Amino acid sequence: MATNQQFVTLNNGNKIPAVGIIGTGTAWFKKQGQEEVISPELIEQIKYALSLPGVIHIDAAECYNTYVEVGKALEQSNRPRDQIFITDKFSPQANDGRTVSESFERGLARMGVDYVDLYLIHCPFISRQGYSLEDAWSELEALYESGKAKNIGVSNFRVSDLQRILKSGKVKPQVNQIEFHAFLQNQTPGIFQFCQQQQIQLEAYSPLAPLQRKSDELKTAAGAPFYHYLEQLASKYNKSEALILLRWVTKRHVIPVTTSSKPARVKDAQENLFTFDLTDQEVDQITSLGLLHKPLRLYWNEVYADY
Ligand code: NDP
Repeated sequence: MATNQQFVTLNNGNKIPAVGIIGTGTAWFKKQGQEEVISPELIEQIKYALSLPGVIHIDAAECYNTYVEVGKALEQSNRPRDQIFITDKFSPQANDGRTVSESFERGLARMGVDYVDLYLIHCPFISRQGYSLEDAWSELEALYESGKAKNIGVSNFRVSDLQRILKSGKVKPQVNQIEFHAFLQNQTPGIFQFCQQQQIQLEAYSPLAPLQRKSDELKTAAGAPFYHYLEQLASKYNKSEALILLRWVTKRHVIPVTTSSKPARVKDAQENLFTFDLTDQEVDQITSLGLLHKPLRLYWNEVYADY
């Protein structure tokens, strides 16, 4: 199937799709204890994503409680495994105290796969398991060496967290998945620049946060110029505002991880993101207008509110 898909090369030489189109958290997230309440909508949405051209990048995590839906969609789709890129995460903040290897094996079994393409530590707050970051990272390294996790990385890590595992570890994390969008360009101080210098690939979750909050933020003095500029670019390129924001993320050398309940939006992200380009001046203008807006943090406020 013809596709405009692009890939990013990680620091170990492996390739990853330049956009993750089907996050299975946020809108699809289920509370602990709700795992067996299956969402037919999510199964259909993943199956739809798996029918699109190119390698399909699915973002899962232990605490989303949506492995069953991912597994059913994979089972009902005839998509070859090498056309699917699956990210999973060890979620120490909400996983009944399972160890890394227990969580990892449970994820594989529930999704019905025998490897994942990327395995992340979901957050640096892992004391519940009695682990240090260094110990947890060495368990991920063992999964990497076994070939069951083709790439490994972290999520929501600060510079100081990364420095610890860079010092103790043998394998450099391939990825740090953080909240990143025009209204939050450094989840924690210095993280954007540090990861780019270290060749740790950044992934952006909530890349559409400004759109998610448009109705409130449009009315603010700092929001209005941003949204008007976004509308201008959407009209110039004849693309949705969402696609303009996702493209801006890619132009900052970050991989956006998005999701939607609407098939047309999933298709747009997979098929049309690289059919147009923003100029450097337009990228800089989005960056600057975004920075004029007060930081908007959608996730992990309880730990990062003071950053
Ligand atoms: P986005 O910023 O992409 O937001 C998705 C939301 O935006 C959906 O609810 C969708 O609504 C809406 N949306 C999608 N397309 C458009 C559009 N064209 N115009 C207007 N609204 C649109 O990402 P999320 O915040 O949902 O996060 C994506 C994924 O990232 C999660 O599912 C999860 O996998 C991961 N994540 C990881 C975290 C971590 O700690 N590592 C934390 C949070 C998320 P609709 O359904 O109506 O289209």
